[in-house]
Amino acid sequence: MKIYLDGKLVAKEDAKISVFDHGLLYGDGIFEGIRAYNGRVFRLKEHLDRLWASAKAINLTIPLSKIDMEKAVIKTLLANKLTDGYIRLLVTRGCGDLGLDPRKCTQPPSVVIITDAISLYPDKLYEEGMEVITASTRRNRPDTLSPNIKSLNYLNNILAKMEAVRSGVMEAIILNSEGYVAECTGDNIFIIKDGILYTPPASEGALIGITRDAVIELAKNKLKIQVREEKLTIYSVYNSDECFLTGTAAEIIPVVIADSREIGSGKPGKITVKLIKEFKNLARSTGIPIK
Ligand code: PMP
Repeated sequence: MKIYLDGKLVAKEDAKISVFDHGLLYGDGIFEGIRAYNGRVFRLKEHLDRLWASAKAINLTIPLSKIDMEKAVIKTLLANKLTDGYIRLLVTRGCGDLGLDPRKCTQPPSVVIITDAISLYPDKLYEEGMEVITASTRRNRPDTLSPNIKSLNYLNNILAKMEAVRSGVMEAIILNSEGYVAECTGDNIFIIKDGILYTPPASEGALIGITRDAVIELAKNKLKIQVREEKLTIYSVYNSDECFLTGTAAEIIPVVIADSREIGSGKPGKITVKLIKEFKNLARSTGIPIK
């Protein structure tokens, strides 16, 4: 396995970052999770735009242009002979002293690209649907650490994930500080009620997921159904006809039980199944070619 580290492709054993890097010391850095399908990188431009937006928000200068970053991603995939897989791209603040001040990070930020084969959830869960719980951990308030900064500080999500694991399930719904549904630990959430697709807006603590955007487009343009970005309560999740989660790694995964309540018929819903099919077609036929 070859890892991209600061302009070089190095062996996994040699891909090392200093213990003085503020990414390690303080979670001071940003990342993206990207995916390649069938020799193409899905929505790479959108992922790089989001990375640059996260960088702007934390005042970090990415030491590459977007074009060079795109080339670096493709170079890493080629070096690993991957046509399908997951791409983890991260940029850390760089090495500094033990204080918080990023101005003391005198070396440029580190850019790391790791590519690997992917399997997040077992196939059975896509066919039968998954169970989720609601975490007691609340989402970071958007006016403290914005959930739209895809930062290396994922403790909020990790605490919620630990609750899911303790309950014997793989994902948890996270509510915002007001008690409205925000998203899940690594996925966005959607429900369908009376033929309308609903998902929480960014203002409720949802990351504007790239998969979320693709699903909204497919619902509007291919399935011709209404989409509403609205506040959702956990009550509306329990009483929805269908529910599913979206994310780069998960793609679209049906949810059939939330906090022991069966959703709809207790099986993946019809609209969810159609969206899964449309998304598979889209992901496998678009994107930046790896060559
Ligand atoms: N929310 C969170 C907290 C995430 O980490 C992710 C995964 N990046 C998502 C939602 C889904 O976003 P995307 O579709 O861009 O992967």
